[in-house]
Amino acid sequence: MFFRVFRVFRGNLLTDMTTNEPIKSKDFIRAIIAEDIKNNKHGGRVTTRFPPEPNGFLHIGHAKSICLNFGVAAENNGVCHMRFDDTNPSKEEEAYVESIKKDVQWLGFDWGDKLFFASDYFDKLYKYAVALIKMGKAYVCDLPPEEMRQYRGTLTEAGKDSPFRNRSVEENLDLFTRMRDGEFEDGSRVLRAKIDMTSGNINMRDPVIYRILRAHHHRTGDKWCIYPMYDYTHCLSDAIEGITHSLCTLEFEDHRPLYDWVLDTLQTPCHPQQIEFARLNLTYTVMSKRKLLQLVNEGHVSGWDDPRMLTISGIRRRGYTPASLRSFCDIIGLAKRESRVDMGVLENAIRNDLNDTAPRRMAVLRPIKLILTNYPEEQEEMLAIANHPKNSDMGTRQIPFCREIYIEADDFLEEAPKKFFRLSPGREVRLRAAYLITCDRVIKDEQTGKIIELHCTYDPESRGGSAPDGRKVKGTLHWVSARHAIQAEVRLYDRLFNVENPDGDKNTDFKSHLNPNSLEILTDCFLEPQLAKATANDHLQFERLGYFCRDDKESTENTPVFNRTVTLRDSWEKVTKKK
Ligand code: ATP
Ligand code: MG
Repeated sequence: MFFRVFRVFRGNLLTDMTTNEPIKSKDFIRAIIAEDIKNNKHGGRVTTRFPPEPNGFLHIGHAKSICLNFGVAAENNGVCHMRFDDTNPSKEEEAYVESIKKDVQWLGFDWGDKLFFASDYFDKLYKYAVALIKMGKAYVCDLPPEEMRQYRGTLTEAGKDSPFRNRSVEENLDLFTRMRDGEFEDGSRVLRAKIDMTSGNINMRDPVIYRILRAHHHRTGDKWCIYPMYDYTHCLSDAIEGITHSLCTLEFEDHRPLYDWVLDTLQTPCHPQQIEFARLNLTYTVMSKRKLLQLVNEGHVSGWDDPRMLTISGIRRRGYTPASLRSFCDIIGLAKRESRVDMGVLENAIRNDLNDTAPRRMAVLRPIKLILTNYPEEQEEMLAIANHPKNSDMGTRQIPFCREIYIEADDFLEEAPKKFFRLSPGREVRLRAAYLITCDRVIKDEQTGKIIELHCTYDPESRGGSAPDGRKVKGTLHWVSARHAIQAEVRLYDRLFNVENPDGDKNTDFKSHLNPNSLEILTDCFLEPQLAKATANDHLQFERLGYFCRDDKESTENTPVFNRTVTLRDSWEKVTKKK
């Protein structure tokens, strides 16, 4: 069931009247933790963990979990462990481990020396399994997978006991040892917890806790040919590490009885509390690693870090800042119910961040040449321009000006309506931080009728952009000097899917909703010279065009490539739309 979180949603943006600091309103998880601290549960200690499986790159949904786990730990003087849940060697890789670590650090979180791997506990987990067998709480089952499924029953029908359920402890110990020693084939036997085949919760119908699998593990190599299952591993890893609150997404709610059964049965000294919250879903995108992998493998995007992907690496390359993602996670808050957040909430988070912090620059994406016929051919001058309209601490820079400049092609209309406050024949506009100019002539290609050049005259008395006689000039255009500009490629992005919920219908392939126009590449863009120095870490506003950032992966020595992170709310656009 989905409800939408609208842009106006401002979750916890209340302000403390005395300190002017934002107040974090307590969500249900923070409320539980506060209560536990008050009651001195776990000695008042808070230890959480972020437990990714290293089988893909992290996405923005993971960012929600990272911000939550590291956030509540920090707020309560606790620690958050970074733990890789690496129990499925056939899908996991070291490269994913490294990228996940990089992403978490980039988001601004630090696990100190608390870096763990579930595979480090394989010996302990094995001993716990032996303990379960000795208690008569686990048995080796030889049912082939298909029969095991039939014995398990359905949601409406109870399961049946496996014929191997009542093996003796001795026989089970012997078989489990031989499973470990490699005597049996992959998949021929499993170890199951002995719980209740009639339970209403299918997860409790004697779940498999160990399987035979000859797969090379990226950390333990070929030491093991049996691997513990996720549900069994996760709760015990939490207990071994002394986790106090094990925060996970709602799909694990039905697994909680098993989580508790394992820890209660083994009487582990620490019994963390599993608390579930709703996973993040966003409009116009898919979130699961499996689906993201399909997009990559089938070439719908250029890779995991394609700037259209909502992976952390894609978002980073697109130009999002860690602060904007943290603030997004704050704004959306936590719920017990599935929801789908409007993509606009994410875009607003980055706009709000960059509006304050991004230096302004000038760039022309779809250029048209403009010649100032009364500006001396050889003359050049430097003009001062503010780096930020409101923050004078960001200083000014000097930009070159000469007789030939570029302006944006859509800032000119030959036959313009009255309310078009840009350039058209006979009208006067301001070139930002430069001069007032008037358009006199439009030069066209005789054959095609395409506009090649605009001939204009400038008012030498209007240096800096204001008229000496105080006459009003409404329109202000951005521009770059044609002689000094650097040529660049600019990539504009639209949403990757053209429907709000691409994976909403089980009968339709989510890829049929891909937006064929999600990437637009402009190759003849001109940037002010200052931008030659920009790096991928500089988040810049190109005036009137949006926020941009250099793409290190695609840029070459001669041609820089810039990605548009997000558009501005452009008032010019509104004018054109209205007419
Ligand atoms: P996916 O379902 O996208 O493939 P996953 O759940 O398999 O992801 P894990 O590596 O198991 O990925 O996830 C690590 C942690 O991140 C888990 O605690 C998981 O609950 C959490 N997480 C994953 N997706 C989301 C999401 N969309 N919103 C919030 N938390 C998430
Ligand atoms: Mg998962």
